[in-house]
Amino acid sequence: MAYTYDDQNIFAKILRGEIPNATVLETEHTLAFRDIQPQAPVHVLVIPKGPYVCYDHFALEASDAEIVDFNRAVGDVVKAEGLQEGGYRIISNAGEAGVQEVPHLHVHVLGGRGLGRMLQRAG
Ligand code: AMP
Repeated sequence: MAYTYDDQNIFAKILRGEIPNATVLETEHTLAFRDIQPQAPVHVLVIPKGPYVCYDHFALEASDAEIVDFNRAVGDVVKAEGLQEGGYRIISNAGEAGVQEVPHLHVHVLGGRGLGRMLQRAG
């Protein structure tokens, strides 16, 4: 499958500095910032700086350095936000079935309260 990246998406604008964000941490290849509509006391989005639409796109086409940097950044967010003890959840929505709103790969890091079961049973 060919991936088409829309550079007008809101996270691309954040990466270009056109829209402000509440940065949690930044590395060479990764930015982490607070979700504008938090679903939990801690709700941080972790995104690669490169133009990747979703997780499988990133896994296929990103460099080893980007992939290592991104994964370490997710772990660093967990630590920086004090989630190691109480636990947390990471989610990455992709495409239509995943109800992805912003077409730039992001991992949600959620915690700070009991999060309930992962999914509600649906038909
Ligand atoms: P998803 O449905 O996985 O694509 O989630 C997109 C997330 O981006 C949602 O949780 C939004 O609240 C969040 N979001 C949208 N715009 C912004 C923004 N400008 N700054 C921070 N988070 C945002």
